[in-house]
Amino acid sequence: MRKLLVLLLSIPAIYSTAQKNEDARISIDVIHYNFQLRLNDDNNIITGTAEIDLICRKPGNQLTLDLMSKNADGKGMVVGSVEINNTKSTFIHRDNVLALANQEAFNKDSLCHLRITYSGIPSDGLIISTNKYGHRTFFADNWPNRAHNWIPCNDHPSDKASVEFIVTAPQHYQVISNGILVERSNTETGMMLSHWKETNVIPTKVMVIGLADFAVGFAGSLDCIPVSSWVFPEEKINGFYDYSQAIDILPFFVQKIAPYPFSKLANVQSKTIFGGMENAGCIFYFENSINGKRKEEGLLVHEIAHQWFGNSATEINWSHLWLSEGFATYLTDLYFEKKYGKDSLQAILKDQRGKVISYYEKQPDRPVVDSLETNYMNLLNANSYQKGGWVLHMLRRKLGDDLFWKSVSTYYRTFAGKNAGTPDFKKICEEISGINLNLFFDQWLYHPGHPQLTIQWKNISSGSVEVTIRQLQKKPFEFPLDILFSDGKTNLIRNVSVSQTESKFEIKMPFSVESISLDPSTNLLAEWKINSVK
Ligand SMILES: [Zn+2]
Repeated sequence: MRKLLVLLLSIPAIYSTAQKNEDARISIDVIHYNFQLRLNDDNNIITGTAEIDLICRKPGNQLTLDLMSKNADGKGMVVGSVEINNTKSTFIHRDNVLALANQEAFNKDSLCHLRITYSGIPSDGLIISTNKYGHRTFFADNWPNRAHNWIPCNDHPSDKASVEFIVTAPQHYQVISNGILVERSNTETGMMLSHWKETNVIPTKVMVIGLADFAVGFAGSLDCIPVSSWVFPEEKINGFYDYSQAIDILPFFVQKIAPYPFSKLANVQSKTIFGGMENAGCIFYFENSINGKRKEEGLLVHEIAHQWFGNSATEINWSHLWLSEGFATYLTDLYFEKKYGKDSLQAILKDQRGKVISYYEKQPDRPVVDSLETNYMNLLNANSYQKGGWVLHMLRRKLGDDLFWKSVSTYYRTFAGKNAGTPDFKKICEEISGINLNLFFDQWLYHPGHPQLTIQWKNISSGSVEVTIRQLQKKPFEFPLDILFSDGKTNLIRNVSVSQTESKFEIKMPFSVESISLDPSTNLLAEWKINSVK
């Protein structure tokens, strides 16, 4: 997703709510969710039936799911009944965990079918509000683990499943969701049933529904994948124009990575709290993302990149978020490089380097792979996005363009429909390139910071220049460094390998140097000061 800072600041800290422990989480593997939901215009109560097929991975007599309990404000869900394999079951719903008991123990690797009826007012996760034109809307917004506010689930990116939503709502709503539309029928007076089905497995963070009085436009198709725009009718002309640029963006990813992973792409104007949320095949953009001038091109590219990285190949845990956000960030940079040229990429990378450095000044102890952070909203930071992107940029320079693209697309193809961690990506890069990347991954992703350098230089006798490089940060990094030498008319670039706290180089020069500058092609994540010594 893309952050929308102004809104994020006003969000209550409700994201580290109690959830079941890790042992309980991995004891089940959900295969398929079928959610039957009833929504109305009279109040914000949703009524649901969840049918869940899952496999018990550990023997035992208790099985747990995440579902927000009713809180003091009267918001949250109340469970009416539970059936396990068509038999009524007892249950305890407390502290946002729904624990189901069975008379017989759950056998290891046995398939269970659950049927849970529930209702309540979602305190989060399904945003029920009015849009800027005063019309009532419903938009799911699940990242990072907010799905269990409105649907019972194993609310963790590692448990992916196929999903279908059967939504009955007043007829004036258009309903969008993941997958393909299986049925749309008028039911009783004034109500309509919409049935969407996603057969690919996806994490709960990107399972959604959206209801509004949408205008729906067909933007085109790519390799039989229909691309559509769902916008508020008041902005139909601008909205269709802006969102249809998705059709121009998709070929870049299909050519560079792999075929599009889902059966359709809908681009949806929404009330997401983020700038954009990459929901599988059904991207939600912030309400004011339409301007009629296609100004949000980068946002569309970013969310479209997530269809491959995040939705299809999914990080195993939130601490590996850079596998989603760093990838979406850098692939957007690369799209801009292809469309607008190398200078555009350099300008973007300089800006992103600045963001990494200023974030480091506030949070000097946090690495990109941050397993200590428990408030996942805090992971929406410059480490996951811009530094993750910069790591991919430096990896590209280290491997070369061909091996870089081969590594990224092989990583995607290997983990499409599955989960991966940073070691999985590293292993693929090493296998493709034959290069040992232990140190590269360790210093850039598992340790905080970046090289902070002071450079001293002076002309010395016999046509040479002496350059002394000091690394000021705690632990020295190992990296290649381009230095540009100039006499005011001619520029020469020389590359040195830096690995020590202090390194001294004597470099032959055909002229007396008047000035030097570092990293002229923007290939190093570092900050520096240069002093000439007379
Ligand atoms: Zn993103």
